[in-house]
Amino acid sequence: MKKLKHLFDRNLSWASNIKEKNPEFFSQLSEQQAPEYLWIGCSDSRVPANQIVNLPPGEVFVHRNIANVVVHTDLNCLSVIQYAVEILKVKHIVVCGHYGCGGIRASMEDTEHGLIDNWLRHIKDVIRFNADKLHNLEGDEKLNLLCELNAMEQVMNVCNTTIVQNAWKNSVDLTVHGWVYSIEDGILKDLDICISSKQQLDEKKLESQ
Ligand SMILES: [Zn+2]
Repeated sequence: MKKLKHLFDRNLSWASNIKEKNPEFFSQLSEQQAPEYLWIGCSDSRVPANQIVNLPPGEVFVHRNIANVVVHTDLNCLSVIQYAVEILKVKHIVVCGHYGCGGIRASMEDTEHGLIDNWLRHIKDVIRFNADKLHNLEGDEKLNLLCELNAMEQVMNVCNTTIVQNAWKNSVDLTVHGWVYSIEDGILKDLDICISSKQQLDEKKLESQ
């Protein structure tokens, strides 16, 4: 058990299932990747990017962290966005939050959680930005609205990166989307924030003022 043999067994059966259906699958995929989508989602084990949208390996470039946060100075996330946009030339960036997010729930509490509190600080900022929408709500209702508002805020953060700004300046076809996923029924919801240009971003900024 120490070497996690069961996972290697599962891997072998997974790879042979795929090769049975398409013997060339891995050899073709090893030559290049050309995904159309960059997925920025939560690390939560119940929110696996490819499976949710039912796409095989090679179709989705993925970045995940606790509570799907896009921090302006996070070199890890920014590098993923840059590689996805400038090298892979993805056409869509999806920020996908999920209801019942533990990271978001923790950011609503006053309890100390250690190092992670510094990360959750970014979500506390989202609470502050949206105080008027949240102050009358309690419990899961508040949590789930905050899960949506956080995904929408992170869409704005993606749009404000120099990478996306420069792509739009160069007339690159690139759209940033905000979604939320329900771990209770496996269904995605479009948050109706879908930004394809600097002009649309400026309009959204005006709306939220
Ligand atoms: Zn989460």
